[in-house]
Amino acid sequence: LRDYVINGFPKESDMYVTANTVKLKVPEGSNGVLVKNLYLSCDPYMRGRMKPPTYASYLDSFTPGSPISGLGVAKVLDSGHPNFKRGDLIWGLTGWEEYSLITATESLFKIHNTDVPLSYYTGILGMPGMTAYVGFYEVCSPKKGEYVFISAASGAVGQLVGQFAKLLGCYVVGSAGSKEKVDLLKNTFGFDEAFNYKEEPDLSAALKRYFPEGIDIYFENVGGKMLDAVLVNMRINCRIAVCGMISQYSLEQPEGVHNLMNLILKQARMEGFMVPNYYHKYPEFLNLVLPYIKEGKIVYVEDIAEGLESGLAALAGLFTGRNVGKQVVVVARE
Ligand code: NDP
Repeated sequence: LRDYVINGFPKESDMYVTANTVKLKVPEGSNGVLVKNLYLSCDPYMRGRMKPPTYASYLDSFTPGSPISGLGVAKVLDSGHPNFKRGDLIWGLTGWEEYSLITATESLFKIHNTDVPLSYYTGILGMPGMTAYVGFYEVCSPKKGEYVFISAASGAVGQLVGQFAKLLGCYVVGSAGSKEKVDLLKNTFGFDEAFNYKEEPDLSAALKRYFPEGIDIYFENVGGKMLDAVLVNMRINCRIAVCGMISQYSLEQPEGVHNLMNLILKQARMEGFMVPNYYHKYPEFLNLVLPYIKEGKIVYVEDIAEGLESGLAALAGLFTGRNVGKQVVVVARE
């Protein structure tokens, strides 16, 4: 990161790639691991880390002039940790660099299933997958036949929430920001309906069109005007899982929400959640999702950027909707 980015969309030029010849080594007696980074994950929460430490975020701010960090898939080259050995594949918090010395090993997961694309551990089999899983099954308390709406539906989390909801027998509608994404939702992920929110002058009217009887479950990824439109289209006992509000992350002042009173009228529940608090459920999640992938019951679309250099635009692109599916950066393939 060049310098903190307080307001506005992050840009490729807010970051830079530099050569460094420092030789990394696991210090004697340390339980750190030295890894070769393979795939890096671009995630919306990283916007918060570009702000100075005075702005609350759930992870520390990036340090200008130092490599940024994020989730990724890596291969262990050397280890002082009893649970990791040379050759192991892991996913977790690593650096945006070719090689990293990871000392926060408690955040690392060992990868045991390698008969799926390794990049999936940045997405469907990693943090975004877990987010879809706990957000949908735990927070939304879904039931067969319910009417489900998902915003940013073609992204890393949304595409999976929609497919979980379809597998349960729900009616599922998603919103996304381009025709290509809307087609993906309907034709690849099997959503019942989808619309381009950028082409809807009245979001509430659009939701009424797709949900004449109202929404039972809203999986919230964007916030702002979309949330307000959902609040006036809820069914009795609607549940809103507040996963993220990406439309607000780059604003100086978050937009106001006007229709909260409807929560009372509709006896609705709106609940935020943070995926790191659910990682103990990771094995149970894998047991559900791996067979779905292998049996072709769930598909996952990735947007692959080749090389660290292209990662900067890829990360910035999350906030303008450039990515189609889960945004991954390939540093090396093995
Ligand atoms: P995505 O892969 O969906 O990428 C972000 C997408 O957000 C873009 O492609 C774009 O799609 C959409 N977007 C960007 N800006 C706006 C805007 N102003 N208004 C509406 N949509 C916008 O990201 P993820 O699936 O990884 O994340 C989805 C949400 O989940 C985010 O809000 C994220 O912060 C949150 N999250 C929360 C977690 C938790 O623990 N609570 C964990 C992981 C993610 P489009 O073209 O459709 O506009």
